[in-house]
Amino acid sequence: MEDLVIVIMEAHANTEQLAVVIERVDSLGLQAHVSAGAERTVVGVIGDERPVDPALFEALPGVDRVVRILHSFKLASRDFHPADRVITLPNGARLGGPEVLVMAGPCAVESREQLQATAAAVAAAGVRVLRGGAFKPRTSPYSFQGLGEKGLRLLREVADELGLAVVTEVVTPEDVPLVAEHADVLQVGARNMANYSLLRKVGDAGRPVVLKRGLGATVDELLQAAEYVLSRGNGDVAVCERGIRTFETSTRFTLDINAVPVLKHLTSLPVIVDPSHATGRADLVGPIACAGVAAGADGLLIEVHANPREARSDGAQALDPATFAVLMARIGRVAEAVDRRCA
Ligand code: PEP
Ligand code: MN
Repeated sequence: MEDLVIVIMEAHANTEQLAVVIERVDSLGLQAHVSAGAERTVVGVIGDERPVDPALFEALPGVDRVVRILHSFKLASRDFHPADRVITLPNGARLGGPEVLVMAGPCAVESREQLQATAAAVAAAGVRVLRGGAFKPRTSPYSFQGLGEKGLRLLREVADELGLAVVTEVVTPEDVPLVAEHADVLQVGARNMANYSLLRKVGDAGRPVVLKRGLGATVDELLQAAEYVLSRGNGDVAVCERGIRTFETSTRFTLDINAVPVLKHLTSLPVIVDPSHATGRADLVGPIACAGVAAGADGLLIEVHANPREARSDGAQALDPATFAVLMARIGRVAEAVDRRCA
């Protein structure tokens, strides 16, 4: 396993002292990831298969201490980046930090009319990020697979009319440039969490990433997947708990509510809860969305459809606009109860 030591600079260390540390990292053929916090700068030193000797850095001027990170994920760990990471989107919406950000929209983009009606409804309820799939990873090859590029164009146009940012899934590495051209945030779906060539490609795309937990993946595996994106130099990654597979069959998946505070402890990446895919049932989306916020989630991903009965995918879990508007108000009250606000 790769080794990581973090070099914590003294609070008053200057830029020359930082440069000396980075030169030492380079001269050893290791990789440096610099994280400039409000109080201190931290340099993450990633080695190859060989262990990195902390003594190589301890004596350098301006270095306070050197700590070895024992997690299998490194850049994702709170040890490396203690402060919460905040992702700022082009329309000013922020994920992470004090506010809870709700992202909502249809499972799939179906038509201009469907998308416009749904987007207008979620925007009226206070949402600033529109979700919607153009490339759909469906369990059955006979199910609706999405509108592809046409769906991406519709998302962009409709979102721009309403001042919304766009989050949409990218399914294959080849589609990353196309999706990145139209979307503000690239979503990696649960079925692709361990698609490492896709993760590398989204890491290079220069867009924030929402990474969903695999149906059978542990928290540790989720954070190692996030590490693939972070290690490409892209620090704007959020992780999403969307339910895991258990023996329980009364809901589509089982939301691992524990994962929310566990993730908040282990990582400073924003944590999102998706109550729609976790439950598969519109009547359960509200309670589970509220539970996610109460447990400390930084964001929610919620499926809404202007007319759920006509949805071409996931209609059973889609909220209608009126129900969603009531839920938004309730989410705001839950956020306040845990000292947050709804963006
Ligand atoms: C989605 O959010 O559209 C989706 C397909 O979710 P998941 O990857 O969590 O199943
Ligand atoms: Mn869906």
